[in-house]
Amino acid sequence: MEFDAIVVGSGQAGVPLATRLARSGKKVLLAERGDLGGTCVNTGCTPTKTLVASARAAHVARNAGRLGIRVDAVRVDFPAVMARKDDIVRSWQEGVARRIAGAGANLRLVRGHARLVGERTVEVGGERHRAASVILNVGARPVEPAIPGLRTVPWLDNRRVMQLPELPSHLVVIGGGYIGCEFAQVYRRLGSAVTIVEPGAHLLGHEDVEASEAIEGVFRGEGIAALLGNRVEEVSRASDRISVRLSQGGTVEGSHLLVATGRRPNTDDLGCDVANVSLDGRGFVEVDDHYRTSVPGVYAVGDCTGGPQFTHTAWDDHRLLFDVLLGKPGRGRKDRLVPYTAYTDPQVAGVGLTEREAAAKGIRYEVATVPFAHVARAIETDETAGVLKILVDPSTERILGASIVGAEAGELIHVFAAVMQAGAPARAIVEMEAVHPSFAEGVQSVVMALERYALS
Ligand SMILES: Cc1cc2nc3c(=O)[nH]c(=O)nc-3n(C[C@H](O)[C@H](O)[C@H](O)COP(=O)(O)OP(=O)(O)OC[C@H]3O[C@@H](n4cnc5c(N)ncnc54)[C@H](O)[C@@H]3O)c2cc1C
Repeated sequence: MEFDAIVVGSGQAGVPLATRLARSGKKVLLAERGDLGGTCVNTGCTPTKTLVASARAAHVARNAGRLGIRVDAVRVDFPAVMARKDDIVRSWQEGVARRIAGAGANLRLVRGHARLVGERTVEVGGERHRAASVILNVGARPVEPAIPGLRTVPWLDNRRVMQLPELPSHLVVIGGGYIGCEFAQVYRRLGSAVTIVEPGAHLLGHEDVEASEAIEGVFRGEGIAALLGNRVEEVSRASDRISVRLSQGGTVEGSHLLVATGRRPNTDDLGCDVANVSLDGRGFVEVDDHYRTSVPGVYAVGDCTGGPQFTHTAWDDHRLLFDVLLGKPGRGRKDRLVPYTAYTDPQVAGVGLTEREAAAKGIRYEVATVPFAHVARAIETDETAGVLKILVDPSTERILGASIVGAEAGELIHVFAAVMQAGAPARAIVEMEAVHPSFAEGVQSVVMALERYALS
């Protein structure tokens, strides 16, 4: 056979998998129809977090007076913000290209849309190839919701909202999940009026209510309107504006409309039907604990398997599947811990179960929360918004889940993740000597807020 492996998609799993397989002596073909690096590098994590940083700089400058520093005027240079983002994305794209080239002659990159056309056989760029293993890493793209009138207006998705030549005067965001919330705050801080329309009762509806309410309070304070419990009934043009009709009555009009209502897998034109690769009802590739699809020799990793849809999860997929392909399967994909962070400011991070999930599963737990405003360092740095929360198993003292809304929550959550991964009891955090003053003291405080660890 000409190739040992064909990898479809140069995303967060595909590139490390293809390059490591090639370096280990396997002949690999990597197919990519778009920009190298996939969603994270081009339209996801990298550009959004670059924009989050610019927006935060504007916010900090505007609020410096609270710390006794006078800033007379803050002017956002929107083209410069976008150019910085584009430069950073370009450098990551070049890094991916270098990494692929650096894998040597065993790795062949073919640009074009790849399709399964038979048993472990892929057609791409006018060529047909068969391999011992085919790995699908095709990712996902934004859902286009069935909102009447949506196709009559120039709506934005996560890619188009980051290619705007000018700052929107009023951005309406449909969807209060993490992507919608990150963009809402970025554009508000850069100077747009922003309205979020969310059908659920809260922003970031996956989180427990304390976390959602903390972010809603921050957003209110920054002038972001959140219209909760509102479905969009219809979208239409109103001269040069976009009008959004709401289920609770009334309309909101904006200059721009961002739709952030979820992501669907790129499997509809992949030939899965021809190759008998089973998809679930939403089009995600069905895989077992070791990434095997319904067809022997065909595997799938990353967002196209249904998630959790994070870059670090896709990357972890690659290392688990690498071992499977080399005949030494270890951990499975289903029982792993997946910490995550929404890059609002303050950040919202979590690992393990939320209280709602624990209760729904009938799991016994002890719970504690501590306001971020009780953390000394947060007071000193004027970053008091947020809340820390922990759930512990009463019989084993193991942490069932933790969530943090607060400054550097995305860093702090790793303390909980590491303790949980090690299977250590929550007591380990109590016995740790936490540096003063640090945000991590909050991590210790919330564990010590559990009655069993309270100081007498
Ligand atoms: C706005 C936004 C912000 C995000 N922020 C974060 C964050 O902060 N942290 C985080 O962890 N995650 C974040 N994510 C999610 C993260 O980007 C994805 O989970 C991750 O990129 C998934 O990687 P993947 O390898 O599964 O797929 P992708 O990175 O999407 O790669 C799939 C690749 O396959 C290619 N492809 C698809 N079909 C074919 C075909 N038939 N033939 C050839 N090539 C094909 C695509 O062009 C693409 O390059 C964000 C996502 C978005 C949209």
